[in-house]
Amino acid sequence: MNLFKGPPDEEAIKKIKYFEKLAIESDPRGYCVCTSEGKDSRVLGHLYRRAGVKHFYLHSGTGIDPPELVYFQRENFKKYKEGGYLTYDISPSKSIVKLMTERRIPPLRQCRYCCAELKERRVPEQARAILSFGVRKYESVKRAKNRDDLEIMKGAKDFVIMPFDNADNRREFETCYQFVERRFNPIVDWTTTDIWNYSRYWKIEQCSLYDEGFERLGCIGCPMAGEYTRRKEFERWPGFKKMWLYAFKKTIETRKAEGLQIYKGMETPEDWFEWWISDRSRGTEDESQMILELDDL
Ligand code: SF4
Repeated sequence: MNLFKGPPDEEAIKKIKYFEKLAIESDPRGYCVCTSEGKDSRVLGHLYRRAGVKHFYLHSGTGIDPPELVYFQRENFKKYKEGGYLTYDISPSKSIVKLMTERRIPPLRQCRYCCAELKERRVPEQARAILSFGVRKYESVKRAKNRDDLEIMKGAKDFVIMPFDNADNRREFETCYQFVERRFNPIVDWTTTDIWNYSRYWKIEQCSLYDEGFERLGCIGCPMAGEYTRRKEFERWPGFKKMWLYAFKKTIETRKAEGLQIYKGMETPEDWFEWWISDRSRGTEDESQMILELDDL
């Protein structure tokens, strides 16, 4: 039986309220709402404020977020603070250029080491709080027909490392065994339509980039985005393309200095960048070889 059954927002609010006691027992500040201030995070935060439960906000900057999203997040955090909420804005521990040079390969779809460092990194500000994310499962026909009930601690196989990654195996409750932390994803079953309907109904201000046609906001050049989106991003923010090219240049220099293989067709920063941004690169032998290399580091 689903104790929380109702329209998606009412269901989510009931769940948020139901687990508040547990959240306060874990940390007197209440839930830690981890937000990127993209559309899903904005809805998540609104639900928490409507629920009237104890919570605070935490944002992890990556250094490669769209500037418009960064300004929007800062403005929102100012408002949350004025509204009496605690806010924590965490800076990245290192730049993507440094990270890539250290790892000797660019982040790849199958090897997103940057997330672990830039988004997943545990910070003291989280303490023992239950972390709440606005992640959602990918929309699928199967899911639309068969929504999951609340699931708690499914076991080690459900260990999830990417907090902002939308994947079909996301659960409302997740336990990260690596850090012994609990995560609560109250809108995991929401569709994109649910998000926009809720957002419009409650007149939630969203980042201006959605009006420019961006459907998902995140790191500029993220390997999880398709070629079309990445090219569109680099056209919109050419400075970030320059930064990635610089990262490729430094990585090639490091590989040469260490006598590591320089892959065919990836001898220059521009060529390697083109390979990296193109969906054609996915699943090639070179990509597998690079991932193997990373394992050896
Ligand atoms: S969202 Fe993409 S680019 Fe950003 S840290 Fe994660 S994998 Fe890297």
